[in-house]
Amino acid sequence: MTIVDTPERRQLRELTRAFVTKEVLPYLDGWERAGEVPRSLHETAAKVGLLGVGFSEAVGGSGGDLLDSIVVTEEIIRSGGSSGLVAALFTHGIALPHMVAAGNADLVDRYVRPTLAGTMIGALAITEPDGGSDVAGIRTCAVRDGDHYVVNGSKTYITSGIRADFVTTAACTDFPGSGSLILLVIEKGTPGFTVGRRLEKLGWHCSDTAELSFSDVRVPVANRIGPEDTGFLTIMQQFSAERLSLATQAYATAQRCVDLAVRWCRDRSTFGRPLAGRQLIRHRLAEMHTRAEAARAYVHEVAERVAAGQPVVTEVAMAKNVAVAACADVVDRALQLHGGFGYLRDAEVERHYRDARILGIGGGTTEIMNDIIAKGMGL
Ligand SMILES: Cc1cc2nc3c(=O)[nH]c(=O)nc-3n(C[C@H](O)[C@H](O)[C@H](O)COP(=O)(O)OP(=O)(O)OC[C@H]3O[C@@H](n4cnc5c(N)ncnc54)[C@H](O)[C@@H]3O)c2cc1C
Repeated sequence: MTIVDTPERRQLRELTRAFVTKEVLPYLDGWERAGEVPRSLHETAAKVGLLGVGFSEAVGGSGGDLLDSIVVTEEIIRSGGSSGLVAALFTHGIALPHMVAAGNADLVDRYVRPTLAGTMIGALAITEPDGGSDVAGIRTCAVRDGDHYVVNGSKTYITSGIRADFVTTAACTDFPGSGSLILLVIEKGTPGFTVGRRLEKLGWHCSDTAELSFSDVRVPVANRIGPEDTGFLTIMQQFSAERLSLATQAYATAQRCVDLAVRWCRDRSTFGRPLAGRQLIRHRLAEMHTRAEAARAYVHEVAERVAAGQPVVTEVAMAKNVAVAACADVVDRALQLHGGFGYLRDAEVERHYRDARILGIGGGTTEIMNDIIAKGMGL
């Protein structure tokens, strides 16, 4: 029995599978075409106890830790969901942790509890049109004016930004690009805060993505997360969980594609024999399964170390890159094994192929992960 295979976590898997089977699978294709998941899905996920996994009961969550969140993500994808669905439904996984870590009871009451109850939707806005990799270079500025900050700037590629009721927003307090950052919770409807167009994408179609702009937006000081100038550190501290979630989405997508390919190769006959009867195909499936399993084992090991509070920033970066590379390879091979059907919207593998491409970009690109790894090597 592994640490993610305890009786409690097996129950959590069953709960997740039942939720996906009943509440997601019949509707997912429609959400992909609509470009978003309905708000009601958040409430349903909250009612069954899934939305709050990884957040303590003290802040309105259902308890559990990073490993429980990983179990939920794995099982959503294994049951036929997708990384796009995880991104859309669990955006609070990146929008809320800074507030919880800061221990601000007022912010917890106003934003964390309602979001975990499924009645509010939050987003995290770091990336700007001028760049996302260089977080210290953020140009959106927040200038103090009495008991408010006046925010000016713009953000882009923001997951759930179209639907979000509030946005955890990174802004600089000094000159643009100074690196002195704060995080502010900015509510939709605040004068000067505009949600721009819905961005169309290669994948993650059920996850809405937005451009946001701020023009003299007055945000109460009470909406600042943590003390002044701690924003950069706070953002970096929360990156590990986001990167491990993306790594989990990557190996889980790979494993789901292995399962789909195995089923297909058993059923599909060419030249009078099932594909799975050919050694070349069996070896290909064996290689795909091995890559997905190796990535899963390494991500689990690193996640256990993160959950135990060990400083493993380099290992997290390696885990993300290992899982993303495995996923890219496996989804490509899985689609190829499906032949022409793999290229059709009707094929589940087609969605995974498109969805997988973002995993090496979001939460820090493969190149930025390599930079972190090189630093960890003393280079
Ligand atoms: C679907 C989607 C959802 C997203 N959701 C969110 C969200 O919710 N919130 C949010 O804040 N952001 C979000 N992002 C943004 C994402 O985090 C950024 O796209 C990512 O961090 C890269 O930033 P960039 O696009 O500005 O690329 P850039 O930083 O401009 O980089 C461009 C290329 O150059 C490479 N590069 C950059 N610097 C270096 C270097 N020093 N050495 C070598 N190579 C380098 C990068 O790896 C990349 O390949 C999302 C993006 C997408 C597409």
